[in-house]
Amino acid sequence: MSVANEFLAVFIDGVPGRGHSDAPLENRNPSTGEVIGHFYPANEADVDQAVLAAHAAFEDRRWRALSPAHRSRAMHRLADLIEEHGDELAALEMQEAGKLKAAARQGEVPFAAECFRYHAGWCSKLEGRTTPMTMAAQGEFHTYTVHDAIGVAGLITPYNGALVQASWKLAPALAAGCTVVIKPDEKTPMSTLRLAELAVAAGIPPGVVNVVVGSGQSAGAALVRHPLVRKISFTGSTKTGKEIGRTAMDDLKKVTLELGGKSPIIVLDDADLDAAIHGVADAIFSNAGQVCVAGSRLYAESRIYDELVAGVAELSRQLKVGRADDGDTDVGPLISERHRDNVLAAITGGEFDGAKILTGGKRIDLDGGYFVEPTVIVDADSTMSVLREEIFGPVLVATKANDMQQCVRESNNSRYGLAASIWTRDIAKAHRLANEVQAGIVWVNCHGIPDMAVPFGGYKQSGWGRENGLEGLLAYTELKSVICKL
Ligand code: NAD
Repeated sequence: MSVANEFLAVFIDGVPGRGHSDAPLENRNPSTGEVIGHFYPANEADVDQAVLAAHAAFEDRRWRALSPAHRSRAMHRLADLIEEHGDELAALEMQEAGKLKAAARQGEVPFAAECFRYHAGWCSKLEGRTTPMTMAAQGEFHTYTVHDAIGVAGLITPYNGALVQASWKLAPALAAGCTVVIKPDEKTPMSTLRLAELAVAAGIPPGVVNVVVGSGQSAGAALVRHPLVRKISFTGSTKTGKEIGRTAMDDLKKVTLELGGKSPIIVLDDADLDAAIHGVADAIFSNAGQVCVAGSRLYAESRIYDELVAGVAELSRQLKVGRADDGDTDVGPLISERHRDNVLAAITGGEFDGAKILTGGKRIDLDGGYFVEPTVIVDADSTMSVLREEIFGPVLVATKANDMQQCVRESNNSRYGLAASIWTRDIAKAHRLANEVQAGIVWVNCHGIPDMAVPFGGYKQSGWGRENGLEGLLAYTELKSVICKL
Protein backbone atom coordinates (compact mmCIF):
# COMPACT_ATOMS: atom_id res chain seq x y z
CA MET A 1 0.00 0.00 0.00
CA SER A 2 1.35 3.47 -0.74
CA VAL A 3 0.56 6.48 1.42
CA ALA A 4 0.53 10.21 0.69
CA ASN A 5 3.88 12.00 0.94
CA GLU A 6 5.73 8.84 1.84
CA PHE A 7 9.35 9.10 2.85
CA LEU A 8 11.70 6.17 3.21
CA ALA A 9 12.67 5.02 6.67
CA VAL A 10 15.80 2.92 6.33
CA PHE A 11 19.22 3.47 4.80
CA ILE A 12 21.09 0.18 4.65
CA ASP A 13 24.30 -0.54 2.74
CA GLY A 14 23.95 2.82 1.02
CA VAL A 15 20.42 2.13 -0.23
CA PRO A 16 17.33 4.00 1.02
CA GLY A 17 14.21 1.91 1.51
CA ARG A 18 10.90 1.47 3.23
CA GLY A 19 10.62 -0.11 6.67
CA HIS A 20 8.54 -3.26 6.99
CA SER A 21 6.27 -2.42 9.93
CA ASP A 22 2.62 -2.84 8.97
CA ALA A 23 1.25 0.51 10.05
CA PRO A 24 2.56 3.80 8.68
CA LEU A 25 3.50 6.61 11.10
CA GLU A 26 2.96 10.27 10.36
CA ASN A 27 5.31 13.19 10.83
CA ARG A 28 3.99 16.57 11.86
CA ASN A 29 5.27 20.10 11.73
CA PRO A 30 5.13 21.25 15.39
CA SER A 31 4.71 24.90 14.31
CA THR A 32 1.41 24.15 12.57
CA GLY A 33 0.35 20.63 13.55
CA GLU A 34 0.22 19.78 9.84
CA VAL A 35 1.16 16.32 8.63
CA ILE A 36 4.40 16.59 6.62
CA GLY A 37 4.42 13.00 5.44
CA HIS A 38 4.14 9.33 6.32
CA PHE A 39 6.58 6.47 6.52
CA TYR A 40 6.59 2.76 7.21
CA PRO A 41 8.87 2.36 10.23
CA ALA A 42 11.65 -0.18 10.50
CA ASN A 43 10.71 -3.42 12.23
CA GLU A 44 12.99 -5.92 13.99
CA ALA A 45 13.95 -7.59 10.68
CA ASP A 46 14.98 -4.22 9.23
CA VAL A 47 17.12 -3.53 12.29
CA ASP A 48 18.70 -6.95 11.91
CA GLN A 49 19.49 -6.25 8.25
CA ALA A 50 21.03 -2.87 9.13
CA VAL A 51 23.18 -4.41 11.87
CA LEU A 52 24.28 -7.23 9.52
CA ALA A 53 25.30 -4.60 6.94
CA ALA A 54 27.29 -2.68 9.56
CA HIS A 55 28.82 -5.93 10.85
CA ALA A 56 29.91 -6.97 7.33
CA ALA A 57 31.44 -3.52 6.79
CA PHE A 58 33.32 -3.82 10.09
CA GLU A 59 34.55 -7.36 9.45
CA ASP A 60 35.80 -6.73 5.89
CA ARG A 61 37.56 -3.59 7.21
CA ARG A 62 36.35 -1.43 4.31
CA TRP A 63 36.54 1.66 6.54
CA ARG A 64 38.95 1.00 9.40
CA ALA A 65 41.67 -0.43 7.11
CA LEU A 66 41.81 2.80 5.11
CA SER A 67 44.72 5.01 6.08
CA PRO A 68 43.94 7.64 8.73
CA ALA A 69 44.69 10.33 6.14
CA HIS A 70 42.14 8.81 3.76
CA ARG A 71 39.44 8.56 6.46
CA SER A 72 40.20 12.05 7.64
CA ARG A 73 39.76 13.44 4.10
CA ALA A 74 36.39 11.70 3.74
CA MET A 75 35.22 13.21 7.03
CA HIS A 76 36.37 16.67 5.91
CA ARG A 77 34.41 16.16 2.66
CA LEU A 78 31.35 15.23 4.73
CA ALA A 79 31.75 18.48 6.70
CA ASP A 80 31.93 20.42 3.42
CA LEU A 81 28.80 18.66 2.12
CA ILE A 82 26.91 19.48 5.32
CA GLU A 83 27.72 23.13 4.72
CA GLU A 84 26.84 22.96 1.01
CA HIS A 85 23.48 21.43 1.94
CA GLY A 86 23.05 23.75 4.90
CA ASP A 87 19.83 25.38 3.71
CA GLU A 88 18.24 22.02 3.04
CA LEU A 89 19.31 20.52 6.39
CA ALA A 90 18.20 23.63 8.29
CA ALA A 91 14.82 23.51 6.54
CA LEU A 92 14.35 19.90 7.66
CA GLU A 93 15.17 20.79 11.28
CA MET A 94 12.79 23.74 11.10
CA GLN A 95 10.00 21.71 9.62
CA GLU A 96 10.09 18.54 11.68
CA ALA A 97 11.66 19.73 14.96
CA GLY A 98 10.38 23.31 15.15
CA LYS A 99 13.95 24.59 15.37
CA LEU A 100 14.12 28.34 14.78
CA LYS A 101 15.47 29.39 11.40
CA ALA A 102 18.61 31.11 12.75
CA ALA A 103 19.29 28.38 15.32
CA ALA A 104 19.09 25.73 12.60
CA ARG A 105 21.05 27.52 9.86
CA GLN A 106 23.62 29.37 11.97
CA GLY A 107 23.76 26.91 14.88
CA GLU A 108 23.01 23.27 14.07
CA VAL A 109 24.47 23.19 10.57
CA PRO A 110 27.90 24.76 11.15
CA PHE A 111 28.13 22.96 14.47
CA ALA A 112 27.53 19.57 12.80
CA ALA A 113 30.09 20.37 10.10
CA GLU A 114 32.73 21.41 12.66
CA CYS A 115 32.09 18.23 14.62
CA PHE A 116 33.25 16.16 11.63
CA ARG A 117 36.27 18.43 11.08
CA TYR A 118 37.33 18.18 14.72
CA HIS A 119 37.04 14.39 14.74
CA ALA A 120 38.69 14.05 11.31
CA GLY A 121 41.86 15.20 13.04
CA TRP A 122 41.67 12.38 15.57
CA CYS A 123 41.88 9.69 12.82
CA SER A 124 45.64 10.15 12.73
CA LYS A 125 46.15 10.84 16.43
CA LEU A 126 44.62 7.87 18.19
CA GLU A 127 47.88 6.80 19.77
CA GLY A 128 48.61 3.96 22.19
CA ARG A 129 51.71 3.98 24.35
CA THR A 130 54.74 1.83 24.96
CA THR A 131 55.10 0.72 28.54
CA PRO A 132 58.01 -0.81 30.46
CA MET A 133 57.33 -4.20 32.07
CA THR A 134 57.66 -4.07 35.85
CA MET A 135 59.12 -7.53 36.34
CA ALA A 136 61.27 -8.03 33.26
CA ALA A 137 64.70 -6.74 32.37
CA GLN A 138 64.79 -3.84 29.95
CA GLY A 139 65.00 -5.03 26.32
CA GLU A 140 63.47 -8.45 27.04
CA PHE A 141 59.96 -7.45 25.91
CA HIS A 142 58.38 -4.85 23.66
CA THR A 143 55.02 -3.86 25.18
CA TYR A 144 52.48 -1.42 23.82
CA THR A 145 48.78 -0.53 23.83
CA VAL A 146 46.42 -0.05 20.87
CA HIS A 147 43.02 1.65 20.73
CA ASP A 148 40.95 -0.78 18.64
CA ALA A 149 37.63 0.21 17.09
CA ILE A 150 34.96 -1.35 19.26
CA GLY A 151 32.84 -2.78 16.40
CA VAL A 152 29.27 -2.02 15.37
CA ALA A 153 27.92 0.95 17.35
CA GLY A 154 24.18 1.56 17.80
CA LEU A 155 23.54 5.30 18.02
CA ILE A 156 20.15 6.36 19.43
CA THR A 157 19.27 10.05 19.37
CA PRO A 158 16.46 12.30 20.66
CA TYR A 159 14.33 14.84 18.78
CA ASN A 160 15.98 18.02 20.03
CA GLY A 161 18.86 18.93 17.74
CA ALA A 162 18.69 15.72 15.71
CA LEU A 163 21.44 16.70 13.25
CA VAL A 164 23.92 17.68 15.95
CA GLN A 165 23.05 14.73 18.16
CA ALA A 166 23.70 12.32 15.28
CA SER A 167 26.96 14.13 14.42
CA TRP A 168 28.24 14.03 18.01
CA LYS A 169 27.98 10.26 17.87
CA LEU A 170 28.76 9.49 14.25
CA ALA A 171 31.93 11.60 14.01
CA PRO A 172 33.86 9.95 16.90
CA ALA A 173 32.57 6.51 15.86
CA LEU A 174 33.97 7.06 12.35
CA ALA A 175 37.25 8.48 13.67
CA ALA A 176 37.68 5.38 15.84
CA GLY A 177 37.02 3.09 12.84
CA CYS A 178 33.59 1.79 13.87
CA THR A 179 30.61 1.11 11.66
CA VAL A 180 27.18 2.24 12.85
CA VAL A 181 23.43 1.91 12.84
CA ILE A 182 21.72 5.18 13.82
CA LYS A 183 18.18 5.24 15.17
CA PRO A 184 16.95 8.84 15.24
CA ASP A 185 13.78 9.83 17.03
CA GLU A 186 10.80 8.86 14.89
CA LYS A 187 9.49 12.44 15.08
CA THR A 188 12.66 13.95 13.57
CA PRO A 189 14.33 11.43 11.24
CA MET A 190 14.86 13.40 8.03
CA SER A 191 18.10 15.26 8.78
CA THR A 192 19.76 12.02 9.95
CA LEU A 193 18.69 10.13 6.81
CA ARG A 194 20.12 12.97 4.73
CA LEU A 195 23.34 12.95 6.77
CA ALA A 196 23.81 9.24 5.97
CA GLU A 197 23.35 9.91 2.25
CA LEU A 198 25.89 12.71 2.42
CA ALA A 199 28.33 10.39 4.21
CA VAL A 200 28.25 8.02 1.25
CA ALA A 201 28.57 10.95 -1.17
CA ALA A 202 31.66 12.04 0.80
CA GLY A 203 33.34 8.70 0.12
CA ILE A 204 32.55 6.81 3.32
CA PRO A 205 31.86 3.30 1.97
CA PRO A 206 28.23 2.08 1.88
CA GLY A 207 27.43 -0.13 4.85
CA VAL A 208 29.52 1.94 7.28
CA VAL A 209 26.68 4.33 8.12
CA ASN A 210 23.19 2.80 8.28
CA VAL A 211 19.95 4.32 9.56
CA VAL A 212 16.71 2.77 10.82
CA VAL A 213 13.71 4.97 11.62
CA GLY A 214 11.18 3.50 13.99
CA SER A 215 9.76 3.76 17.46
CA GLY A 216 11.94 3.38 20.51
CA GLN A 217 10.02 0.41 21.87
CA SER A 218 10.41 -1.52 18.64
CA ALA A 219 13.36 -0.42 16.45
CA GLY A 220 15.31 1.16 19.33
CA ALA A 221 14.91 -1.81 21.64
CA ALA A 222 15.80 -4.24 18.81
CA LEU A 223 19.04 -2.34 18.22
CA VAL A 224 19.95 -2.44 21.91
CA ARG A 225 19.23 -6.18 22.09
CA HIS A 226 21.11 -7.12 18.92
CA PRO A 227 24.03 -9.45 19.73
CA LEU A 228 26.27 -8.05 16.97
CA VAL A 229 26.08 -4.51 18.36
CA ARG A 230 29.07 -3.99 20.66
CA LYS A 231 28.35 -0.46 21.85
CA ILE A 232 25.28 1.69 22.42
CA SER A 233 25.55 5.44 22.57
CA PHE A 234 22.24 6.83 23.72
CA THR A 235 20.99 10.37 24.24
CA GLY A 236 17.51 10.81 25.67
CA SER A 237 15.51 10.64 28.87
CA THR A 238 16.79 9.14 32.11
CA LYS A 239 13.87 6.67 32.11
CA THR A 240 14.81 5.25 28.69
CA GLY A 241 18.51 5.34 29.57
CA LYS A 242 17.90 3.07 32.57
CA GLU A 243 15.95 0.64 30.40
CA ILE A 244 18.78 0.57 27.86
CA GLY A 245 21.36 0.04 30.59
CA ARG A 246 19.42 -2.95 31.92
CA THR A 247 19.09 -4.55 28.46
CA ALA A 248 22.71 -3.91 27.56
CA MET A 249 23.70 -5.77 30.74
CA ASP A 250 22.50 -9.06 29.16
CA ASP A 251 25.53 -9.27 26.88
CA LEU A 252 27.64 -6.58 28.57
CA LYS A 253 27.56 -4.13 25.68
CA LYS A 254 29.53 -0.99 26.33
CA VAL A 255 27.12 1.90 26.95
CA THR A 256 27.32 5.68 26.94
CA LEU A 257 24.23 7.44 28.32
CA GLU A 258 23.59 11.17 27.87
CA LEU A 259 20.40 11.72 29.87
CA GLY A 260 18.11 14.32 31.36
CA GLY A 261 18.85 17.23 33.63
CA LYS A 262 17.41 19.87 35.92
CA SER A 263 20.33 22.23 35.66
CA PRO A 264 20.81 25.02 38.19
CA ILE A 265 21.81 28.61 37.53
CA ILE A 266 23.47 30.29 40.52
CA VAL A 267 23.52 34.09 40.56
CA LEU A 268 25.58 35.76 43.29
CA ASP A 269 24.87 39.28 44.48
CA ASP A 270 27.98 40.74 42.80
CA ALA A 271 26.97 39.50 39.32
CA ASP A 272 26.53 41.75 36.30
CA LEU A 273 22.75 41.83 36.66
CA ASP A 274 21.88 42.77 33.12
CA ALA A 275 24.07 40.00 31.71
CA ALA A 276 22.58 37.54 34.22
CA ILE A 277 18.98 38.48 33.32
CA HIS A 278 19.65 37.86 29.62
CA GLY A 279 21.73 34.76 30.40
CA VAL A 280 19.01 33.20 32.56
CA ALA A 281 16.28 33.88 29.96
CA ASP A 282 18.44 32.41 27.21
CA ALA A 283 19.33 29.38 29.30
CA ILE A 284 15.70 28.38 29.83
CA PHE A 285 13.79 29.70 26.82
CA SER A 286 16.14 28.69 23.96
CA ASN A 287 14.50 25.99 21.84
CA ALA A 288 11.43 26.45 24.08
CA GLY A 289 13.33 24.80 26.94
CA GLN A 290 13.83 21.56 25.00
CA VAL A 291 17.54 21.50 25.72
CA CYS A 292 19.17 18.90 27.96
CA VAL A 293 21.25 21.57 29.73
CA ALA A 294 18.39 24.11 29.99
CA GLY A 295 18.85 26.20 33.12
CA SER A 296 15.53 25.32 34.72
CA ARG A 297 16.33 26.07 38.40
CA LEU A 298 17.47 29.53 39.40
CA TYR A 299 19.11 30.13 42.79
CA ALA A 300 19.98 33.75 43.54
CA GLU A 301 21.33 35.49 46.61
CA SER A 302 18.69 37.52 48.42
CA ARG A 303 20.14 41.01 47.77
CA ILE A 304 19.64 40.78 43.99
CA TYR A 305 16.89 38.14 43.86
CA ASP A 306 13.87 40.45 43.41
CA GLU A 307 15.48 42.61 40.74
CA LEU A 308 16.85 39.58 38.88
CA VAL A 309 13.59 37.65 38.85
CA ALA A 310 11.57 40.73 37.90
CA GLY A 311 14.01 41.33 35.03
CA VAL A 312 13.75 37.74 33.76
CA ALA A 313 9.95 37.84 34.02
CA GLU A 314 9.80 41.15 32.15
CA LEU A 315 12.08 39.81 29.42
CA SER A 316 10.06 36.61 29.11
CA ARG A 317 6.88 38.65 28.55
CA GLN A 318 8.59 40.43 25.66
CA LEU A 319 9.65 37.24 23.87
CA LYS A 320 7.71 36.51 20.70
CA VAL A 321 6.35 32.98 20.65
CA GLY A 322 5.63 31.67 17.18
CA ARG A 323 6.37 29.52 14.18
CA ALA A 324 9.91 28.32 13.60
CA ASP A 325 9.99 29.68 10.05
CA ASP A 326 9.08 33.23 11.15
CA GLY A 327 12.32 35.21 11.42
CA ASP A 328 10.89 37.33 14.28
CA THR A 329 10.14 34.36 16.55
CA ASP A 330 12.11 34.11 19.81
CA VAL A 331 10.49 30.97 21.25
CA GLY A 332 9.26 28.21 18.94
CA PRO A 333 6.91 25.28 19.46
CA LEU A 334 7.17 22.18 21.62
CA ILE A 335 7.67 19.00 19.65
CA SER A 336 4.15 17.53 19.91
CA GLU A 337 0.68 18.05 21.27
CA ARG A 338 1.37 15.39 23.88
CA HIS A 339 4.57 17.03 25.06
CA ARG A 340 2.84 20.45 25.22
CA ASP A 341 0.15 18.92 27.42
CA ASN A 342 2.79 17.31 29.66
CA VAL A 343 4.51 20.68 30.10
CA LEU A 344 1.20 22.36 30.96
CA ALA A 345 0.41 19.55 33.42
CA ALA A 346 3.76 20.07 35.15
CA ILE A 347 2.99 23.80 35.53
CA THR A 348 -0.49 23.09 36.90
CA GLY A 349 0.98 20.48 39.22
CA GLY A 350 3.40 23.07 40.59
CA GLU A 351 0.51 25.47 41.23
CA PHE A 352 -1.46 22.71 42.92
CA ASP A 353 1.51 21.99 45.20
CA GLY A 354 1.56 25.64 46.29
CA ALA A 355 4.09 27.31 43.98
CA LYS A 356 3.14 30.60 42.31
CA ILE A 357 3.23 31.43 38.62
CA LEU A 358 4.86 34.82 38.29
CA THR A 359 4.39 35.02 34.55
CA GLY A 360 3.28 32.75 31.67
CA GLY A 361 1.97 29.29 32.38
CA LYS A 362 -0.62 29.03 29.61
CA ARG A 363 -0.87 27.40 26.23
CA ILE A 364 -0.93 29.63 23.18
CA ASP A 365 -3.26 28.68 20.34
CA LEU A 366 -1.53 29.87 17.21
CA ASP A 367 -1.56 28.45 13.68
CA GLY A 368 -2.36 24.94 15.00
CA GLY A 369 1.10 24.61 16.59
CA TYR A 370 2.12 23.43 20.08
CA PHE A 371 3.05 26.54 22.04
CA VAL A 372 3.45 27.36 25.74
CA GLU A 373 4.14 30.82 27.18
CA PRO A 374 7.60 31.39 28.66
CA THR A 375 6.92 30.72 32.31
CA VAL A 376 8.54 31.80 35.58
CA ILE A 377 7.50 30.06 38.80
CA VAL A 378 8.38 31.21 42.33
CA ASP A 379 7.69 30.08 45.92
CA ALA A 380 8.36 26.41 45.20
CA ASP A 381 10.09 24.24 47.78
CA SER A 382 12.61 21.54 47.09
CA THR A 383 10.14 18.70 47.66
CA MET A 384 7.88 19.79 44.79
CA SER A 385 8.10 17.93 41.54
CA VAL A 386 8.26 21.20 39.63
CA LEU A 387 11.73 21.60 41.20
CA ARG A 388 12.70 17.94 41.08
CA GLU A 389 11.56 16.65 37.69
CA GLU A 390 12.79 17.66 34.25
CA ILE A 391 9.96 19.48 32.43
CA PHE A 392 11.79 20.00 29.10
CA GLY A 393 9.79 23.11 28.33
CA PRO A 394 10.04 26.90 28.80
CA VAL A 395 9.58 26.77 32.57
CA LEU A 396 11.94 28.39 35.08
CA VAL A 397 11.62 27.89 38.84
CA ALA A 398 13.31 30.66 40.85
CA THR A 399 14.38 30.31 44.50
CA LYS A 400 15.80 32.94 46.86
CA ALA A 401 18.89 31.86 48.81
CA ASN A 402 20.49 33.42 51.90
CA ASP A 403 24.04 32.95 50.66
CA MET A 404 26.18 31.10 48.16
CA GLN A 405 26.45 28.01 50.32
CA GLN A 406 22.68 27.65 50.24
CA CYS A 407 22.79 28.12 46.45
CA VAL A 408 25.19 25.23 46.11
CA ARG A 409 23.36 22.99 48.59
CA GLU A 410 20.06 23.48 46.75
CA SER A 411 21.75 23.02 43.38
CA ASN A 412 23.18 19.68 44.44
CA ASN A 413 19.89 18.54 45.96
CA SER A 414 18.85 16.77 42.75
CA ARG A 415 19.10 13.31 41.25
CA TYR A 416 20.46 14.98 38.12
CA GLY A 417 23.92 16.43 37.53
CA LEU A 418 24.27 17.39 33.90
CA ALA A 419 25.21 21.08 33.91
CA ALA A 420 25.25 24.29 35.95
CA SER A 421 26.15 27.92 35.52
CA ILE A 422 27.51 30.44 38.00
CA TRP A 423 27.17 34.19 37.59
CA THR A 424 29.56 36.37 39.59
CA ARG A 425 32.30 38.97 39.12
CA ASP A 426 34.40 37.33 41.85
CA ILE A 427 36.75 34.85 40.21
CA ALA A 428 37.63 33.13 43.48
CA LYS A 429 33.96 32.51 44.32
CA ALA A 430 33.39 31.27 40.76
CA HIS A 431 36.09 28.60 41.08
CA ARG A 432 35.06 27.67 44.62
CA LEU A 433 31.50 27.06 43.47
CA ALA A 434 32.61 25.30 40.27
CA ASN A 435 34.52 22.94 42.53
CA GLU A 436 31.49 22.24 44.73
CA VAL A 437 28.72 21.93 42.16
CA GLN A 438 27.90 18.35 41.17
CA ALA A 439 27.61 18.62 37.39
CA GLY A 440 29.42 17.31 34.33
CA ILE A 441 29.91 20.81 32.94
CA VAL A 442 29.98 24.16 34.74
CA TRP A 443 29.80 27.48 32.93
CA VAL A 444 30.86 30.77 34.52
CA ASN A 445 29.07 33.93 33.32
CA CYS A 446 27.60 32.04 30.39
CA HIS A 447 25.35 29.01 29.94
CA GLY A 448 24.91 26.25 27.38
CA ILE A 449 28.05 26.78 25.30
CA PRO A 450 29.16 23.39 23.91
CA ASP A 451 32.38 22.53 22.14
CA MET A 452 33.59 19.38 20.41
CA ALA A 453 36.91 19.56 22.24
CA VAL A 454 35.28 19.73 25.69
CA PRO A 455 34.03 16.51 27.31
CA PHE A 456 30.30 16.57 28.00
CA GLY A 457 28.10 14.29 30.12
CA GLY A 458 26.38 13.87 33.41
CA TYR A 459 26.99 13.15 37.09
CA LYS A 460 24.42 11.02 38.94
CA GLN A 461 21.28 10.12 36.96
CA SER A 462 22.24 12.42 34.09
CA GLY A 463 24.29 9.68 32.54
CA TRP A 464 27.28 7.43 32.07
CA GLY A 465 30.43 8.44 30.22
CA ARG A 466 31.29 11.51 28.19
CA GLU A 467 30.89 12.70 24.63
CA ASN A 468 33.38 14.96 22.81
CA GLY A 469 37.08 15.47 23.34
CA LEU A 470 39.45 12.53 23.71
CA GLU A 471 37.17 10.87 26.29
CA GLY A 472 34.28 10.85 23.81
CA LEU A 473 36.46 9.27 21.14
CA LEU A 474 37.87 6.58 23.43
CA ALA A 475 34.31 5.48 24.24
CA TYR A 476 34.21 3.94 20.73
CA THR A 477 37.37 1.89 21.33
CA GLU A 478 38.60 -1.12 23.25
CA LEU A 479 42.08 -0.98 24.72
CA LYS A 480 44.38 -3.80 23.69
CA SER A 481 47.77 -4.50 25.31
CA VAL A 482 50.43 -6.36 23.29
CA ILE A 483 53.37 -8.05 25.03
CA CYS A 484 56.06 -9.24 22.63
CA LYS A 485 59.03 -11.32 23.88
CA LEU A 486 62.14 -10.23 22.04
P1 NAD B 1 13.35 9.48 24.92
O1 NAD B 1 14.21 8.76 25.88
O2 NAD B 1 11.90 9.30 24.97
O3 NAD B 1 13.78 9.15 23.41
C1 NAD B 1 15.11 9.29 22.95
C2 NAD B 1 15.39 8.24 21.87
O4 NAD B 1 15.31 6.93 22.43
C3 NAD B 1 14.39 8.25 20.70
O5 NAD B 1 15.07 7.93 19.51
C4 NAD B 1 13.44 7.12 21.08
O6 NAD B 1 12.77 6.57 19.97
C5 NAD B 1 14.41 6.12 21.68
N1 NAD B 1 13.83 5.13 22.60
C6 NAD B 1 12.73 5.28 23.38
N2 NAD B 1 12.52 4.14 24.09
C7 NAD B 1 13.54 3.28 23.77
C8 NAD B 1 13.88 1.97 24.18
N3 NAD B 1 13.16 1.30 25.08
N4 NAD B 1 14.97 1.39 23.65
C9 NAD B 1 15.73 2.06 22.75
N5 NAD B 1 15.45 3.30 22.31
C10 NAD B 1 14.37 3.92 22.82
O7 NAD B 1 13.74 11.00 25.09
P2 NAD B 1 12.94 12.29 24.59
O8 NAD B 1 11.96 12.65 25.62
O9 NAD B 1 12.48 12.13 23.21
O10 NAD B 1 14.14 13.34 24.57
C11 NAD B 1 14.30 14.30 25.54
C12 NAD B 1 15.20 13.79 26.65
O11 NAD B 1 16.52 13.66 26.15
C13 NAD B 1 15.29 14.75 27.80
O12 NAD B 1 15.28 14.03 29.00
C14 NAD B 1 16.64 15.42 27.59
O13 NAD B 1 17.22 15.95 28.76
C15 NAD B 1 17.43 14.30 27.04
N6 NAD B 1 18.60 14.80 26.31
C16 NAD B 1 19.84 14.63 26.87
C17 NAD B 1 20.96 15.14 26.23
C18 NAD B 1 22.33 14.98 26.83
O14 NAD B 1 23.31 15.16 26.11
N7 NAD B 1 22.46 14.64 28.11
C19 NAD B 1 20.82 15.81 25.01
C20 NAD B 1 19.55 15.95 24.47
C21 NAD B 1 18.45 15.43 25.12
